[in-house]
Amino acid sequence: MKIFEEIESEVQSYARSFPRVFNKAQGEYLYDLEGNQYLDFLAGAGTLNYGHNNPVLKKSLLDYIELDGITHGLDLHTKAKGEFLTTFNEKILKPRKMDYMVQFTGPTGANAVEAAMKLARTIKKRPNIINFTNGYHGVTLGALAATGNVHHRAAAGTPLTGISTLPYDGYLGDDIDTTSYLDKVLTDSSSGIDHPAAIIVETVQGEGGITAASICWLQNIQKVCRKHDLLLIIDDIQAGCGRTGSFFSFEKMGIEPDMITLSKSLSGYGLPFAVVLIKPEHDIWKPGEHNGTFRGNNLAFVTAKKTIDHYWSDDLFANEVRKKGEYIYNRIQKIITRYGEGNFSSRGRGMFQGLNCVDGNLANKITKLAFKKGLMIETSGADDHVIKFLCPLTISDQNLKNGIDILEDAIKTICIEKNIFDEEIDYFHEDYEVKS
Ligand code: PMP
Repeated sequence: MKIFEEIESEVQSYARSFPRVFNKAQGEYLYDLEGNQYLDFLAGAGTLNYGHNNPVLKKSLLDYIELDGITHGLDLHTKAKGEFLTTFNEKILKPRKMDYMVQFTGPTGANAVEAAMKLARTIKKRPNIINFTNGYHGVTLGALAATGNVHHRAAAGTPLTGISTLPYDGYLGDDIDTTSYLDKVLTDSSSGIDHPAAIIVETVQGEGGITAASICWLQNIQKVCRKHDLLLIIDDIQAGCGRTGSFFSFEKMGIEPDMITLSKSLSGYGLPFAVVLIKPEHDIWKPGEHNGTFRGNNLAFVTAKKTIDHYWSDDLFANEVRKKGEYIYNRIQKIITRYGEGNFSSRGRGMFQGLNCVDGNLANKITKLAFKKGLMIETSGADDHVIKFLCPLTISDQNLKNGIDILEDAIKTICIEKNIFDEEIDYFHEDYEVKS
């Protein structure tokens, strides 16, 4: 279709990786105008954890619209919002012994991040915030200052301020705990790091290359926060909502953030929706201080409530995600063994896994070929060198296998082309089973 070239801005990104006109979607499948079917291992960059047009969620939405339920509600109290809050409190917060206030922000992840950082600065009356190398928190100016990627930062057009960047877990090698350095610079009054209000951190860096921080490192980050009077903000926008095998990505780690940002798969249906969870003692907002016309996407409240009722009332779904995560991990290990440890390594947690191809060109060639074979899968990381497995959590066992088979076919072809792999040795497509 010419119209996209004619009048859509050059800023497009995913559309360049997947140059088709898409028309329909169901579960883990997307269809283009010609009727070609693609397995979706991108899932709206982590927004479609429950698949496209999930029938359970769709039904709740259609019923609500049919009855002329409110669509847009500013921050008015509505039945849909009340029911979401009740369900979220009863089924997500209380069972996890979490006591938080819920702030509805504008519906993007960046908006939730902006709100959390503003609030932290106001509470502590200090402008500086610590983020980590390769972190990604959005592209509005405040969030962009906390985002490492040079391509995004270069577009700011103005200095990005109020952030000090420190090394994430593993940044200086596996044997160095970077929290010691963090503690040191906060202890030393002449370190050059202004005493911050907060630390903002992803437990698994999504855009940064699917790097998972160790539990011990995260616990140490919390200790540093407590020791130096900093607030801990966990940005769970991509890693949360079930992706790593539990609703929050930091569950059972002994981590109690002061604030948590959630968005992406919170509505469950791909509808824009974001919140900041705030410890009650920190909820010092004055009415309307952080504002936004689209804080009341009631359609999102309806599907978010249904998502929690359907998937998070017990442990069954979380267990299924963990099993599928193990399967993905095992397949990635096989790929590494087959195609060389120098060429590939693995990253991630739960169903948030990455295949590090070291070389961005190699990763790009593989994902391009995979797309030709019917698999949508993206790359992430500083050089786009990590292939990011982000399929819907609800994907069938068979399609999970099929998708990884397609990827492995593409890897094999590209590795033969690049003389990385010997064509004669064909130990391919043995049977794998997801044990669920
Ligand atoms: N935080 C994290 C961890 C993210 O992954 C993203 C989006 N990739 C954002 C914030 C920003 O979300 P949005 O694109 O909806 O503004």
